[in-house]
Amino acid sequence: MSIKTKTRGQLIIISGTTCAGKGTIIQKLLERNPNLELSISYTSRPMRGGEENGRDYYFVTQEEFEKKIQQGDFLEYAEVHYEKYYGTPKMELEEKLESGRDVILEIEVQGAQQVKEMFPETILIFILAPSMEEVKRRIKMRGLENNEQIVKRFEKAYREINEINQYNYVVVNDNLEEAITKVESILISEKCRVDRIEEVFMENQEEIIHEFLMDKEFDNSTTSLLDK
Ligand code: 5GP
Repeated sequence: MSIKTKTRGQLIIISGTTCAGKGTIIQKLLERNPNLELSISYTSRPMRGGEENGRDYYFVTQEEFEKKIQQGDFLEYAEVHYEKYYGTPKMELEEKLESGRDVILEIEVQGAQQVKEMFPETILIFILAPSMEEVKRRIKMRGLENNEQIVKRFEKAYREINEINQYNYVVVNDNLEEAITKVESILISEKCRVDRIEEVFMENQEEIIHEFLMDKEFDNSTTSLLDK
């Protein structure tokens, strides 16, 4: 018996509390799973040190972003931190999924909600930091933001934790390797879902029964030979 599953790729959303280690988990998943791709978002926020246009985001001005909204270029978009836009490009994503690639969107809760409404089969995973104390420690270590920005991030993190019930899975990142294994296991299980089956092929029943009977005859003869 063999099974033909849907060839269209799977859409996976990974969200999480600020500094929960989503980026590191996603990086590892991409290294280990060649059929997996990360969707690169557009943003109107300024580029940070160490970031690269086209790798981390497509960095555009607010006007360019708004033009893209009007053109209907985004699958979803949200105004996230400090009135800055973030959006998922629609066409690139559709092409990737159609070609059978599984695609990760690393987006926040509002965007995840919009995508879930459009594509209910999306796999939604939320990554939690082990504690808010740990988040505080990681934010300070990053040292990228001023106090006001940090407070806003915290407020958003608390609001987002309340939205967790919209997700299918939650993974606490208290041990990186374990968290990666958990996310990988979720993705493997999702591949085995019955609703991904398109067709089941069965071999000819009579042939199978005949082969089975032949095997039995052979077994009988060997047993009888041994008996002698
Ligand atoms: P950061 O500025 O730290 O790179 O990202 C801030 C937040 O924006 C993160 O929570 C990230 O998940 C979210 N984000 C990144 N890209 C997108 C996007 O295309 N759409 C939405 N809705 N959120 C995004």
